[in-house]
Amino acid sequence: MEEDYEKMLEDAREDLPEEVFESARFTIPEADTQKSGNKTVINNFGDIADNLGRDKKHLTKYLLKELGTAGHREGKELILQGKFRRGKINGKIEDYCEEYVICDECSRPDTRLVKEKGVTILKCEACGARKSVEE
Ligand SMILES: [Zn+2]
Repeated sequence: MEEDYEKMLEDAREDLPEEVFESARFTIPEADTQKSGNKTVINNFGDIADNLGRDKKHLTKYLLKELGTAGHREGKELILQGKFRRGKINGKIEDYCEEYVICDECSRPDTRLVKEKGVTILKCEACGARKSVEE
């Protein structure tokens, strides 16, 4: 009886589509930051944007607005004016993911930002859900 149950669990696991595991593995990338004088450098900014599959300009614009500061990119780095705690920056990256990366319906990150009639839409490739987002 017990064996049957275990076998059943195993079968159930095998039936799960690959994507379930893919999305379970998705973790929001963390910023590796470093203060430099009166500036804060996000060393792995380029990797974060690549990991999320989002345009670096878009993520830059969001972070600068949310942190209320100015900044510019240099290679992989994003250099912010002012001193910011790593935790604060990571919180903003999480907010960004919720708004612009993770699907509300299926919680997967397999999404794209598309423009339709002047409106920016977050479109989920996995389940087809759509929501309009602020640019
Ligand atoms: Zn979805």
